[in-house]
Amino acid sequence: MARYSGSVCRLCRRENLKLFLKGERCYTDKCAIERRNYPPGQHGQGRPKFSEYSVQLREKQKVKRMYGLLEKQFRRTFELAERVKGITGEALLVLLERRLDNVTYRLGFASSRADARMLVRHGHIVVNGKRVTIPSYFVRPGDVVTVKDQSRKLDRVVAALEGAQRRGVPEWVELDRESVSGKIKYLPARGDITAPINEKLIVELYSK
Ligand code: SF4
Repeated sequence: MARYSGSVCRLCRRENLKLFLKGERCYTDKCAIERRNYPPGQHGQGRPKFSEYSVQLREKQKVKRMYGLLEKQFRRTFELAERVKGITGEALLVLLERRLDNVTYRLGFASSRADARMLVRHGHIVVNGKRVTIPSYFVRPGDVVTVKDQSRKLDRVVAALEGAQRRGVPEWVELDRESVSGKIKYLPARGDITAPINEKLIVELYSK
């Protein structure tokens, strides 16, 4: 599948926000946002445009990049959200949070969502006792997500779990560090998603 292969720090600089795409480095002073907090490129330090469309577009790009999705996958998730009863923007965020790669990251088994996606793809993640290799798999309340026995000693998993202590885990999941497993207590509500996102702008953009 096609994937963005350029500098991920460039994406943060473009959105003028830490998107935490590089694991531990994001928490150090090597973070590009700390060092060069202006958009990349020749016109990066020029006067930014603030048309209604550009504001909506930037919000969508920010969230898409935060969760590491390409346009097509993001659009498909939005279409699923439209079919959910209730507020579409909130449903979109909940669906993004329910993705298995995101849950793997949230539980601290991976240092970034990109790393989590790789763990899932390579068969290191087990849901309710069964190996699941689909990063877009949506978890449900009561699901138990674990790292496969043989994979628990992987350096990247051990390092990620150590780093995750600082990050903490969200309320809607319960982590058991001993068994490297986590339970979905309930599906997140809008209030459980603390990232600075204005999902209404995304709905407005896609409703044009
Ligand atoms: Fe973004 Fe992390 Fe790079 Fe900082 S280090 S710019 S937060 S990806």
